[in-house]
Amino acid sequence: MTRRRKIYEGKAKILYEGPEPGTIVQYFKDDATAGNGAKKGTITGKGVLNNRISEYLMLQLSEINIPTHFIRRLNMREQLVKSVEIIPLEIVVRNVAAGSIVKRLGLDEGKKLPRPIVEYYLKNDELNDPLVLEDHITTFNWATLQEMDEIVSYTLRINDFLRGLFAGIGIRLIDFKLEYGRLWKDDEFHIVLADEISPDNCRFWDMASGEKLDKDRFRRDLGKVEEAYQEIARRLKIIPEKKFEVIESSNPEHME
Ligand code: ADP
Ligand code: MG
Repeated sequence: MTRRRKIYEGKAKILYEGPEPGTIVQYFKDDATAGNGAKKGTITGKGVLNNRISEYLMLQLSEINIPTHFIRRLNMREQLVKSVEIIPLEIVVRNVAAGSIVKRLGLDEGKKLPRPIVEYYLKNDELNDPLVLEDHITTFNWATLQEMDEIVSYTLRINDFLRGLFAGIGIRLIDFKLEYGRLWKDDEFHIVLADEISPDNCRFWDMASGEKLDKDRFRRDLGKVEEAYQEIARRLKIIPEKKFEVIESSNPEHME
């Protein structure tokens, strides 16, 4: 096996040089962090599930003409993506109050917001990913106004689409974080969706019970962390139903 060059190791993924120019391999780890690295742990099987969940969601988004970095999944933990120049912002969309906005604005967790709110955070661990305004973004050339217009428009379309997709499987999409990058194509830069979409960077609540099915289970020590990631994958039909459920439905007498 030839050794690949490691480009970057982050909190949840490792990036390797891809087989063709302009590509990189994203390797999904089981490592989990919260509070900007203050809490560290592992969630067994998370990397495998996030690789599959992100593949599935990126492919669904391509179907509605959102440009993404995704090329193809290579194996259980790796996917090939187009190498992009990451815009150093975390784009957060909120449908329901949860997480940092609850503290910052004194809202009740679970309060439905009158309309989706898009927020920008600077991707900078040393500064604790501060909330920034469009004026900061354009003044410091993190992105242009035109790029931000495109990012916000993609983000709201993604939010509408994913809300519907998850509502269809009994899940409320509370909020999520996206990253975008620039890709040079046809003599100009294009904005493409990058990074990942997974329970690491989305809040998912079960519609019926309100149960949290995302990384908040890890952040808040709620237990059943692995199970939450599996449940998302199961509802998306990425992994099969539980074995006993298969037996139950195919042979009901067996359960009596
Ligand atoms: P971090 O700890 O910085 O969040 P991760 O563990 O999430 O890192 O690893 C993924 C890193 O790769 C992130 O810094 C992300 O911005 C970057 N990235 C994601 N997609 C791409 C891409 N298509 N091209 C280049 N970099 C990317
Ligand atoms: Mg990350």
